[in-house]
Amino acid sequence: MHSIDQACGASEAEKYRRIFHATPDYATFSTLETGIYLDVNPGFERMTGYRRDEVIGRSSSDIDLWVDPVDRNSAVARLREQGSLFITTRMRMKDGGVLLVEASLAAFDANGEELLIAVVRDITARDALERELVGHRRHLERLVAQRTAELEEAMRRLEELTVTDELTGAGNRRAFTRRLRARCAESDRTGMPFCMAVLDLDHFKAVNDRYGHAVGDQAIQVFASLALREMRAVDYLARYGGDEFVLLLQDATSEQAIQPVERICRAVAHYPWARIAPGMELTASIGVTAYRREEGDDAVFRRADHALYEAKRRGRNQALIA
Ligand code: GH3
Ligand code: MG
Repeated sequence: MHSIDQACGASEAEKYRRIFHATPDYATFSTLETGIYLDVNPGFERMTGYRRDEVIGRSSSDIDLWVDPVDRNSAVARLREQGSLFITTRMRMKDGGVLLVEASLAAFDANGEELLIAVVRDITARDALERELVGHRRHLERLVAQRTAELEEAMRRLEELTVTDELTGAGNRRAFTRRLRARCAESDRTGMPFCMAVLDLDHFKAVNDRYGHAVGDQAIQVFASLALREMRAVDYLARYGGDEFVLLLQDATSEQAIQPVERICRAVAHYPWARIAPGMELTASIGVTAYRREEGDDAVFRRADHALYEAKRRGRNQALIA
């Protein structure tokens, strides 16, 4: 049977026969239904290991070519519907080795007989390479994700450093200024009350002079921790500079704010400072005031500072509301 001759005119057939033999891919002519080989090209012999005369007249199922025969059955069914098809499947070679292949299949009618032309390409190596690439990409993605997380953590720490007072861990002056402005804006918008307090150690310079700068630093740290202990989590403490701290009391009127600031005053006065240095005593003065809607950050700060000045003037170791 001369299948190419059947499919087209004799000179055309010669042209296609040359292409069929010259293509580096595996190419076969077979019957569609039964898969009996009518012709195979050198590419087929190279890939499968079967010689041409071994397979002509036999079917693909005779040589157990399709690892998943159901792939062939469904390909035949679809070819009857759509004429041509491109599939990926696995094929078993003569030596038993299995290759992953891409098959371009076309069905055609030759004088009433359904024939199949198949052009098949081995993609085992390409597939392995693709899998390897996918593996590499996943690894890279994991690496990038890990580095990104590390960078984010470093940024977070850096950000924390830029808003934190190194000595006490409270907020710093810059962060406080930003917070205060935000609180004022929020209060202007919503009417939510808040209070601001300025806290300052009394005669702290004398502590420094008498016990040295290191003890002075320690005293500032204790002062911050005593204040932090008396305030709520929503309140905000920052070191404004030297022995001076500022405190924002969220959602509080001055009547509500006076209690915690008086507790801070008492805590400082009663703290066993002598444990840090023999004979040491320390008190603090606090000025506190409630924000007046629309007055802005400068005004509330000045009034709180003035209240502190008054507390100092009236003998220190006290909290005073302005
Ligand atoms: P007053 O009761 O009026 O507040 O008196 P004071 O001596 O505490 O006066 P003031 O608050 O003006 O003095 C602050 C002193 O704090 C001045 C400086 O020697 C000291 N100081 C400022 N920063 C630091 C610091 O980081 N560490 C230490 N140990 N001392 C500091
Ligand atoms: Mg002071």
